[in-house]
Amino acid sequence: MASSAELHQRRSAAVARGVSSMIPSYVSTAGGGTMTDVDGREWIDFAAGIAVTNVGNAAPRVVEAVQAQVERFTHTCFMIAPYEQYVAVCEELAALTPGDFDKRSALFSSGAEAVENAVKIARHATGRPAVVVFDHAYHGRTNLTMALTAKVMPYKQGFGPFAGEIYRVAMSYPLRDGRSGAAAAAYAIGQIEKTVGAVNVAAVLIEPIQGEGGFVVPAEGFLPAIAAWSRAAGAVFIADEIQTGFCRTGEWFASTHEGIEPDLITTAKGIAGGLPLAAVTGRAEIMDSVHPGGLGGTYGGNPIACAAALATIETMRELDLAAAARHIESVARPRLEALAAKHPAIGEVRGRGAMLALEVVIPGEDTAAGPAPDAVLTAAVAKAAHELGLLLLTCGTYGNVIRLLPPLIISDDELDRGLSLLEQAFASSL
Ligand SMILES: *Cc1c(COP(=O)(O)O)cnc(C)c1O
Repeated sequence: MASSAELHQRRSAAVARGVSSMIPSYVSTAGGGTMTDVDGREWIDFAAGIAVTNVGNAAPRVVEAVQAQVERFTHTCFMIAPYEQYVAVCEELAALTPGDFDKRSALFSSGAEAVENAVKIARHATGRPAVVVFDHAYHGRTNLTMALTAKVMPYKQGFGPFAGEIYRVAMSYPLRDGRSGAAAAAYAIGQIEKTVGAVNVAAVLIEPIQGEGGFVVPAEGFLPAIAAWSRAAGAVFIADEIQTGFCRTGEWFASTHEGIEPDLITTAKGIAGGLPLAAVTGRAEIMDSVHPGGLGGTYGGNPIACAAALATIETMRELDLAAAARHIESVARPRLEALAAKHPAIGEVRGRGAMLALEVVIPGEDTAAGPAPDAVLTAAVAKAAHELGLLLLTCGTYGNVIRLLPPLIISDDELDRGLSLLEQAFASSL
């Protein structure tokens, strides 16, 4: 097998520079809570391919389902010749997503594509143009979703012009806005009413817990108030659960923590154990407002990806991975809080389930919007963690959030080893 150094040389001459990688090591195999690179080094996985392999890499049921499907047929295009697997995934989505109402789903290949289609559907259903999004939001990298995404560098820089009729309002961010959920919602709603106008709003689009934007958990009451306003305004309330979905936060979907029932939910990442699949699921009357042929795509709901999704969902049910996510939190949160007690540079420990974060700040240095972020220390900790063999991601508008996204099937021993490496990385970076 070629070494990472050799592969890196080939890569530099063949792969576009804009597509970058977090670590310089090339993967050989992965499973459980670990990954092994081509140089024979083992890594603890706190990334799960960005919250994708919630059931683990090469999960046995997923492997078996993919192998069986790939031998039967690989692709017909659901728009040409339909197949059962697509229908079965839509049935599962109707059963698993919050809300006891009649639902329909449409399947796609990437998260951004699902978000784009949710916006298309909301505009079609309401006949209105405006889409409301929030500070720090991340919804993807396609043209429309770049406009929905907040952060310029690296996602948007130089890639404009962007789509119109997108309006950004304040997100509830307890560490930085000091507002209660109700007060933050009133502020955001005021912004919408004054600068957009309720009658113009097709959709309010929000991540129940923000992902790339910094694992921001809105103050309690914020989401229900925004959802209620949206419904009263005749707009479609869309929860982007692409990162939070499929047991990641200790429930099947994060909307459940606050009892909200979104009109539409976008899913992707954790849905299919690593195969590319995404969905828009929601109220039948909204979904079915679109004329036949108005939604689709060549690969959307590919049969191999659908077979993987069905096996993924079965695995999540059988192993109760929502409970596993809560267990991960019960082990990791006390360790992270102890670390924060030791290092004043950790301004906050937050998150839900197996979606946990440390926000890194400059102690004693305050800005108008809360403690000064420390992106330099954050990058140093991540780099130290990588050198120690821990796959660890950062995020946040200010680049100062360390996030934990282990696969939900990680063993207690692997979790413990990973947390120890994180503690070591912190100690060596200060
Ligand atoms: C990753 C992500 C997306 C985009 O999904 P892709 O599959 O990368 O296109 C959209 N929204 C959220 C919340 C995400 O985390």
